[in-house]
Amino acid sequence: MSDITEQIPAFLRELLTAEYPTEAERIVRGYVRRPVTLRANSLKATAEEVACELTRMGLPFERVPWYEDAFLLGGAPGALAESALFREGKIYLQSLSSMLPPLYLAPAAGENLLDMTAAPGGKTTQLAALSGGKALITACEKDGIRFDRLKFNLMRQGAGRVNAMQADAAKLDAFLRFDKILLDAPCSGSGTLVAGEPSKISQTLIENSARMQKTLLKKGLSLLKKGGKLLYSTCSVLKEENESAVEFALAAGATLLPLRPPEGLPLLPGAEGTITVCPDGKFEGFFLAMLQK
Ligand code: SAM
Repeated sequence: MSDITEQIPAFLRELLTAEYPTEAERIVRGYVRRPVTLRANSLKATAEEVACELTRMGLPFERVPWYEDAFLLGGAPGALAESALFREGKIYLQSLSSMLPPLYLAPAAGENLLDMTAAPGGKTTQLAALSGGKALITACEKDGIRFDRLKFNLMRQGAGRVNAMQADAAKLDAFLRFDKILLDAPCSGSGTLVAGEPSKISQTLIENSARMQKTLLKKGLSLLKKGGKLLYSTCSVLKEENESAVEFALAAGATLLPLRPPEGLPLLPGAEGTITVCPDGKFEGFFLAMLQK
């Protein structure tokens, strides 16, 4: 492997090489700082309004072909964090890959949704926006500080019909039932490393994450209505956190509903019907699978 890769932990390079013999170099080369990306919050502003305001602020941007609300800034964000757009919750700063799970779940008015691991709330608020604020969403988060952040973001983004609860999702009441569930699982973050910057990734974190992911997946499936859908996602590219979680769900009786990636998404080889995004200059490494009960 080349020089940049020296900044990535050796154990991870070995794992990637073992799991992706022909792609490991490409993955590691994708561990770079990415431009700021954001989503227009359709509960508060149209994409056109956001585009006009970014232009007025002198911030060049690109649009994203598969999502009209997504923007990719062409340079430094300038005073974006102090702008009215930001303060009034008309935009939400979010990576492009992490905009995909809510799009695939496609929440509709009146549906009953659970976001099992919700903080800081990027995907909960996107789910709320995609349903026009008309889905009933329960957003669960275990960590107290992150829960406060979630509540703040729900309020700022105007996501009104969200019931936020600070709880361990693995211990949710067994009698609850949902039409759709998002399990954006805690993970090692192996898709999001930036070369030269600190990372918490370790073999132990990967193992603990894999264990927790299966616990949460089992619980999520048990809380789905018959025929309901669960979108499983991680910001990891490692098979033990992705394909092996899907295999676990299939062995528990779930069905895999194949996902079709949007054109232009940088992909890694993975199990049929699932999506593994390769980290690159625009996208974080990410994994998605849709399961049905
Ligand atoms: N979906 C979030 C978003 O888009 O902003 C990001 C979620 S992050 C990948 C995973 C979250 O799961 C963390 O906030 C973590 O504190 C939370 N978490 C971990 N274990 C949990 C559990 N057992 N129950 C509920 N939340 C949990």
